[in-house]
Amino acid sequence: MPNKRIKDGDHVVPGDRLGVIEEFIPGPGTFQDQDDTIYASVTGLVRIDMSERKIHIEAITRTPVFPERNDIIIGEVQHVGKKAVIINIFQVRGIHCPIPYSGSVYIKNAAAGYVEQMRDLFRPGDVIIARVQKQTLGMARLSTVGPRLGVIHSSCSRCGHSLTHQNRRLTCNNCGNIEQRKLSKDYGKIYELMHPDESDSQTS
Ligand SMILES: [Zn+2]
Repeated sequence: MPNKRIKDGDHVVPGDRLGVIEEFIPGPGTFQDQDDTIYASVTGLVRIDMSERKIHIEAITRTPVFPERNDIIIGEVQHVGKKAVIINIFQVRGIHCPIPYSGSVYIKNAAAGYVEQMRDLFRPGDVIIARVQKQTLGMARLSTVGPRLGVIHSSCSRCGHSLTHQNRRLTCNNCGNIEQRKLSKDYGKIYELMHPDESDSQTS
C-alpha cells in the first residue's frame, strides 16, 4: 500500500501512520516505533507546524461529560409541560457535551415563590443556565432558583426574533411583543457564558 501523505487537518485514529522521524518531530497524541515511524495515539485532527516540523494530534474528545451535583449547566428547553420542562444539556462545567444530556426542571425548583404553570417561565427553544441538584440515571434534576440562573437567551414566540431585556421587560424589537420568563441576571450574555475562556478578550 503506498503511503498516503498526511497533511494538516487530516482526521486520524490511533495507529494511523503519520510519517517518519526524518520528516517530523512527534508531539502530543503521537508515538514512534523502533523504525522511527510516527503514529497517531489518539483520535483527532493532524496539526503540522511546518516552521518547526512538529506534528501533533488535536484530540477529539468522545468521552461523554456527565453533569454532577452542583455543576452549572447550559441547555436548551426542549419541552414545556405544566409542571416541568425538559432540557437538552449541551454544556457542563464550561465543557461542551458532544452528546446532549437530558435534564429536567420541576416547578418547585424553577423560581422562588408560587408558580402556576411552567409556560409562565420557559418556552421551547429558550437557552437556560441551571444548577444540577442531583443526577439520576440518564437525567439531571436541575434548579433555576437564584438570580444568576434561568433563561439567558429567548426568541419571540410570535415572530422568532431574539428578545431583548430592557426596562425590566423582555421585548421583541421586531414586532413589539412583550414576553415573560424566569430570567437570569446574565440574560443576553450567552456568548460570554458559553466561552468562559475568552471573556477577558471581549470587544464591544
Ligand atoms: Zn416578535
